[in-house]
Amino acid sequence: MKILIRNLIIILFYLTSVPFWRRLFLTKPRVRVWCLHEVKNHQVGEFEKKIVYLKKHYNIISPEQFTGHNLAKDKLNILITFDDGFTSWLDNVLPILKKHRLCAIFFIEEKFVKYSSNLTDEGHVLGGHSTYHLKRLPELSTEELKLEIQNSVKLDFFAYPFGDKKSFNRVVAEAVKQGGYKYAFTILPGFNNIKTDSLFLHRDSLDADTPRLIFKLWLKGSYDLIKKIL
Ligand SMILES: [Zn+2]
Repeated sequence: MKILIRNLIIILFYLTSVPFWRRLFLTKPRVRVWCLHEVKNHQVGEFEKKIVYLKKHYNIISPEQFTGHNLAKDKLNILITFDDGFTSWLDNVLPILKKHRLCAIFFIEEKFVKYSSNLTDEGHVLGGHSTYHLKRLPELSTEELKLEIQNSVKLDFFAYPFGDKKSFNRVVAEAVKQGGYKYAFTILPGFNNIKTDSLFLHRDSLDADTPRLIFKLWLKGSYDLIKKIL
């Protein structure tokens, strides 16, 4: 029910043109980051359709293009990311990314590390997502925080577990930076541009089979206002 109300408000907001006009005033180039989790068997078809749609109308960028600021100005840039760690990625995600020659960031939990070479062998980039992913990082002691953020290999990207407003603060961001990460992603919706703090980057969690209309409106920024309300 909440989702239905949210979707109706997104459509309503879009029809009032508020997000449409708002995005025109944002400094370009802009990057929108799509966060996915598991892509289940029945979602694979819809996932590929969305990839094809994004390729046609937007500029899908690799993690390398993101860090190198190699972005399109005339089109919205889209960075694709996956969170947590699902063995179904191997069958349902990797073949599609390979087919469309795309590279993504995979923010994996410790338990998925044994599969990490499956991802990196295909050119994808790994990101940190905490060691245990049990609590929101601001709730931890300094020692616990260190343990959650530490990583045995050097990684540039970090995604705050849970990612909502309660999942990060300045102290946590500083610890992430000390841990060697250069970029940290929230799950707060929005466009990223040169003015966005690299330790509080915007990212939106949308399932692979999110209704097409909602997905399109998300790309245009309608989602941003709605998340602040709901
Ligand atoms: Zn997670």
